[in-house]
Amino acid sequence: MSSLALNGKTRDMSHHRHELNGASQQRVDQTFAEDVFTMRVMQQRLPKEVFRAIQRTLNHGERLDPSVADVVASSMKEWAMERGATHYTHWFQPLTGLTAEKHDAFLVPDGEGSALSEFTGSALVQGEPDASSFPSGGIRATFEARGYTAWDCTSPVFLNRNGGTVTLCIPTAFVSWTGEALDKKTPLLRSMQALSEQARRVLKIFGTDQGVTNVIATLGCEQEYFLIDRELFYKRDDLITCDRTVFGAKPPKGQQLEDHYFGSIPTRVIGFMSEVERELYRLGVPVKTRHNEVAPCQFELAPLFETANIASDHQMLVMEALKRVAPRFGLQCILHEKPFKGINGSGKHVNWSMSTNTGVNLLDPRDDTHTNMQFLVFLCAVIRAVDLHADLLRASVASAANDHRLGANEAPPAIMSIFLGDMLTDIIGQLERGGPKSTKQKGSLDLGAKTLPHLPRHTGDRNRTSPFAFTGNKFEFRAVGSSGAVAWPSTVLNTIVAESLDYISGMLEKAVGKNPDPAKLQSAVKDVLQGIVKEHKRVLFDGDGYTKEWHAEAKKRGLPNFRESVSALQQIPSKKNIAVFEKFGVLSKLELESRAHIFLEKYVKQVLIEAETAILLANTQVLPAAQRYQIELAETVASAEMAGLDAKDARAALADFAGLVSKLRKAIAVLDREAERHDDDVSAHAEHVRDKVRPAQEAVREVVDELETRVPRDLWPIPSYREMLHIK
Ligand code: ADP
Ligand code: MG
Repeated sequence: MSSLALNGKTRDMSHHRHELNGASQQRVDQTFAEDVFTMRVMQQRLPKEVFRAIQRTLNHGERLDPSVADVVASSMKEWAMERGATHYTHWFQPLTGLTAEKHDAFLVPDGEGSALSEFTGSALVQGEPDASSFPSGGIRATFEARGYTAWDCTSPVFLNRNGGTVTLCIPTAFVSWTGEALDKKTPLLRSMQALSEQARRVLKIFGTDQGVTNVIATLGCEQEYFLIDRELFYKRDDLITCDRTVFGAKPPKGQQLEDHYFGSIPTRVIGFMSEVERELYRLGVPVKTRHNEVAPCQFELAPLFETANIASDHQMLVMEALKRVAPRFGLQCILHEKPFKGINGSGKHVNWSMSTNTGVNLLDPRDDTHTNMQFLVFLCAVIRAVDLHADLLRASVASAANDHRLGANEAPPAIMSIFLGDMLTDIIGQLERGGPKSTKQKGSLDLGAKTLPHLPRHTGDRNRTSPFAFTGNKFEFRAVGSSGAVAWPSTVLNTIVAESLDYISGMLEKAVGKNPDPAKLQSAVKDVLQGIVKEHKRVLFDGDGYTKEWHAEAKKRGLPNFRESVSALQQIPSKKNIAVFEKFGVLSKLELESRAHIFLEKYVKQVLIEAETAILLANTQVLPAAQRYQIELAETVASAEMAGLDAKDARAALADFAGLVSKLRKAIAVLDREAERHDDDVSAHAEHVRDKVRPAQEAVREVVDELETRVPRDLWPIPSYREMLHIK
């Protein structure tokens, strides 16, 4: 049975059916996807021909007939109202990085003092929110407000329950009146189509395309997050406004003991986790793992992988559920990449692969990998893509928040390189020398005690320091930040790999024609891949990505290293990048340029909000507390002198402390001045913010954190790291 189809089965989660086949598997009582308008529900509720039309759209990408939409809409409305829904909304992902919704009631007055419920096909298929308040990056002026949302029928409709209300949510794409994409979903869907087309060309060459109507990008996203006590959260303006602490002295016990990772989960937290899971199950999000992470109060949740656009929608639901459920347990969920200085930050590992609708994972090396030339083509396509477009990949994870994390020896460096592991590294070496002849075997581990089982060993070790690692049958992109949406990084991945597949199939088609004989094909593939390995092997690196030696080596190899976000974001609208997005119809030049603009603008806003928050906190909380203590110190001197005691030490302490306080005043004044400076050119403004505002803020922080270790605890106005990083 096909297992990974972009068809009805996918939407009923039966692409996970392979995981329901084992000997010891049983159906569970846990209701799953009960708040989702699944294919099964549609099959039960829709007339046969309408259901078939939907299937054709999902399986073969056919456009949906408008007459069908009316029937579907009315069935959806009935289903939703039976479950208590009063409103519907087109649910979309504008370029803010969040989701947006505008609710409309099903209810319409009938003019005779009573009301009817109504939901038409056109209301399902198209919406018209005012687009002027969403970022457009100069595509549209504020007065040109019109924007449209369009139903993405490949991602299932679901019910959103919040505060006792139920709303029918329709996943949509969001475009301007002139047709430009204003969201993250539209280019994702376009990139998936491009990837599918190019991958199928390769399958056709190998003659493995029987029954393959679609090649699907698959995504599985691991989400890291912090939980802190909500009462403490509300005592810190920086957490409330920025989701991050702008001040905070290092606690005596951070993560030095490494005792939190995979540790037993605190009771209150596990209660929280299972409620999040229950809510996500209802929404059809297949949450699978939960555990403690490296830092104190840091945790992780991961669902099973799904079709990319569904996984991307579900990822947004995961973040929303974490935020929504935490307060019920007196907790606050923090998704920021670096909430606490000196403590590990949070990322989002994005696992990515390609799969046919017939269920074949195209990145599965199988046992005799050296004979699996088709796999090697897909592998080399990824290698070439990452090398050619390292700048784009780097830029796809750039944000003011992620800057605190990337390259900070806890998250991968900002240099994009690929970890392959022993077995594949060996085969790539053989490919380079002309043709692979053998596959390194897995072997097993003898643990030394007879009662312990022999463990089959993977062909390669793990490497946490690599930003882009092959992990068995997929790649894991680890540079993505915890608060970011996954749609954009996966759009970039799909597009650049599509470009490489186009390049490879072009070369192969030229060498052997459309219906090649197998021997001729083998040798043509070897030639093409040998060329690719020679040209792009510089991007492969299996060593420790944290070391200075690697940074030096990467420089020698000519690999780009955009240490921070501004320089990375400035690469987006380059000629090369415009060309690749335009060639595959993913983004026009205008759309791409507008995105670069929006990302830079967001960077500026985020840094400035933090700076303003730091100034406010310093002026209204830290300085007053320090001054109070300064008075106490002065009184100590005075009373010592009055008593005729030696006040030399007390006087020195006072002078020392007063020096710190005046240093703080000066640092605040510098930050204030730098934050005021504006530049109409967003790129120049971002550079100013990066070069002047951030260091000035860091300088304020240094003094504040020093003061925190000196001012008596009863005078210190904000909760400390020590208090916050401990869940009772
Ligand atoms: P780890 O913590 O070892 O990185 P996890 O088991 O926490 O691994 O997460 C691995 C993620 O990779 C899961 O979300 C899983 O569903 C996903 N995954 C597995 N196979 C694929 C695939 N073919 N395509 C995309 N994602 C995948
Ligand atoms: Mg991982």
